[in-house]
Amino acid sequence: MLYYENPYLKSVEVEVKEKKGNKCLLLDTILYPGGGGQPADEGIAICNGKEYPIKHVGSLWHEIDGECECNKIKIILNWEKRYLLMRSHTAEHTFFRLLENKGAKMGKIALGEVSSIIFQGDVSIEDILDAEEKTRKLIREGRKVTTFWIEKKDIPNYPELRIKIERIKEEKIRVVKIEGHDLSACKGVHVSNLSEIGDFAVLHFRTGNKKEVKFVIGETAMSYHYKASQEMRKLLWYRNLDMEKIENYIENLENENNKMRKALIDANKDAKFHVEKCGEIDLYYLFLLYADRKIIQRKALDIANHNKAIVVYGIGENNIACVAYNSSYPWARDEYMRLLNKMNGRGGGKGNFVSGSVENAKTFVEELKKIICEKALQLRGDENGYS
Ligand SMILES: [Zn+2]
Repeated sequence: MLYYENPYLKSVEVEVKEKKGNKCLLLDTILYPGGGGQPADEGIAICNGKEYPIKHVGSLWHEIDGECECNKIKIILNWEKRYLLMRSHTAEHTFFRLLENKGAKMGKIALGEVSSIIFQGDVSIEDILDAEEKTRKLIREGRKVTTFWIEKKDIPNYPELRIKIERIKEEKIRVVKIEGHDLSACKGVHVSNLSEIGDFAVLHFRTGNKKEVKFVIGETAMSYHYKASQEMRKLLWYRNLDMEKIENYIENLENENNKMRKALIDANKDAKFHVEKCGEIDLYYLFLLYADRKIIQRKALDIANHNKAIVVYGIGENNIACVAYNSSYPWARDEYMRLLNKMNGRGGGKGNFVSGSVENAKTFVEELKKIICEKALQLRGDENGYS
């Protein structure tokens, strides 16, 4: 294939072997059909002096946006997109080899303006930063990239080869070699020297079981590194801190914050519900910014179970609003759910207790209290024969 023989070919004139409506079977092509995380190339076809976008690229069948009439067509590759993919793909090989050395196992690659690698393995933030630094060094050194084909039976001769053997169907395997660094079985299109990548930056690292790295290359990577350094220095200089102390500084802030939060929660353990009479019902209510959810729930249920009462409360920290009601007033649940739906909240609950998350717990509690009180007054009115 021409895209393997010369990945730098931006246009080519090729013979059309067969035609089926809008589809042309070409003798050869410069358009990569996609695979291995590298999207298919884009391009246009020129036939009788007219340009047609190529809608779909198969391995040799290409579907054009128009009738395929010519016996020879010229293909022009969207080079800008392809070159970014070639560079990103080669960067991925360079970088992921380093992660594999640390025990990472490849999951899925998606190459693009921002590329993503999903993987598993015991890899730390420090490992990621170290691999990024080494990748940048290899790029600066301008390591050569070459490709060659081997037979399936020869795989044992290449113990360093990264290959997912269970995914290989063909007898011939294409190997991409980065000078003194990596051998990897791959069908994609790559650059011939790492220096073409320009630069490399990891934008994001998602930890957990299914890990993900997002990276960029070239100018974008360069400006990211620049910006990261600017932002870091602003952070330090505004606070008169040394770089070595920033982690400690943030840890202290977090500890302080946790301590304060805990103190507030402790203080609210003795919080008293307000109470007012609505018809025959005692309406209890409370709003707290911080609270121990279990303790306050227990209190609310205790009140509702032992009194002719409905208890409405909210917690500001995670915007939670709840209602606990004496089993004689099951309509409290309906009123709660109606308001929850109206205010785009989500929630539910068993027995005589309902809880949900809302946009603003304080407003919700005030509104619910009003609704429940009106309903209670109305119900008493009905009993007394007037409304
Ligand atoms: Zn590759």
